[in-house]
Amino acid sequence: MSPPADMLTFDEARQRILAATKPVANVETISLDAALGRILATDIVAPIDVPGAANSAMDGFAMAADTVSADTGATLVGTAHAGHPFTDNVGAGECVRIMTGAWLPTGTDAVVMQEQAQINGQHVALDAAPAPGAHVRPAGDDICRGQRVLAAGSYLRATDIGVLATLGQMSVPVFRRPCIAYFSSGDELQPPERELGPGQLYDSNRPMLAALLAELGFDTLDLGRVPDDPQALEAALERGESADAIVSTGGVSVGDADFVRETLAAKGNVDFWRVAIKPGKPLAFGHLGGTGFFGLPGNPVSAAVTFTQLVRPALARLAGGQPAAAQRHQRQLAETIERKPGRTEFMRGQQLTSDAGQAYVRALGHQGSGVLSSMGIADCFIVLPADSEGAAAGSAVNVEPFAQRLWA
Ligand code: AMP
Ligand code: MG
Repeated sequence: MSPPADMLTFDEARQRILAATKPVANVETISLDAALGRILATDIVAPIDVPGAANSAMDGFAMAADTVSADTGATLVGTAHAGHPFTDNVGAGECVRIMTGAWLPTGTDAVVMQEQAQINGQHVALDAAPAPGAHVRPAGDDICRGQRVLAAGSYLRATDIGVLATLGQMSVPVFRRPCIAYFSSGDELQPPERELGPGQLYDSNRPMLAALLAELGFDTLDLGRVPDDPQALEAALERGESADAIVSTGGVSVGDADFVRETLAAKGNVDFWRVAIKPGKPLAFGHLGGTGFFGLPGNPVSAAVTFTQLVRPALARLAGGQPAAAQRHQRQLAETIERKPGRTEFMRGQQLTSDAGQAYVRALGHQGSGVLSSMGIADCFIVLPADSEGAAAGSAVNVEPFAQRLWA
């Protein structure tokens, strides 16, 4: 069963959103101390070799391998510490006491670890002659001068900060942090400081959106709770236009109080508003000038699913980075799932292991798109393709764990 003509498949929607999203143009150079989680704006090419010279990988004795043997041993002529090289030449049959990280003295090409040598005055007895290059880290072992160590668009992790530091880099060019404006819409929404009246509920989507954006490390602009009123929505969109993108929840469906789509159409353009995804079918995507607009559905699980599956990858690109491909694996289904084909479905699931060690997954019983608490019980999505009519117990299904890397 294919979706109606004006409804995009999940893959089409994701592609269209990604294709329409360009990275922010501005680049800033910041201190390495502040670079964790930022997106690198240029390739980084190593200006030096790391390490800069051959050095010892062990505490032991450095010597020229072909000038010593187990019979002869070697004559001790000096000491080399990390940061304090031995500066004289080491001759045939001679050795230098050397510590890990110390530069290999001129004339030596191998290290015998101290556990395989015995010092007796100036004489060092060897259990065996070393092979040339033994326990030596050559110059450029880690990074060679001229090598590209990090590509533009990389998300800077702690170990990347370490790599930049090994190059002596004090600052780093990164893309400006995008600013994302967000609001929730609905006359029924209340802030936590108010008592709930008839028909009202607390606004869960807006704090959730703020947290989802904080996970990405973005700047945010909170546009508040907006009533189901075209003028109020217009004002929110106008305020949001100064941001790099706007994300909203609620009011995108076909109800009498759903004004988000028509307001977007009046102030900008709507690219599409229906996606064959469950939960989450109504999802408006468009632009206000250069600002991307994502109108997510109001049901909290739908908002969470559409944000993580469709919006987050685009925001990663907006930031100048690369969204990570979703990590999925196959799991055996514990209980049969029946469903109507038509939409790609993200069912909340729980991965379990039987006493016999068999890994399997089961769909949670209550899949309502308003049941946000189930996201805390589930640990994965069971992803069913649009044409699936369900899956029998024992068959393999695609599982996407919640714990995912966000950036490639
Ligand atoms: P809507 O997409 O506006 O038709 O809303 C769908 C459902 O989600 C309704 O039951 C709303 O009350 C609920 N809802 C909408 N926005 C929120 C929100 N910010 N927090 C919690 N529930 C919401
Ligand atoms: Mg509503």
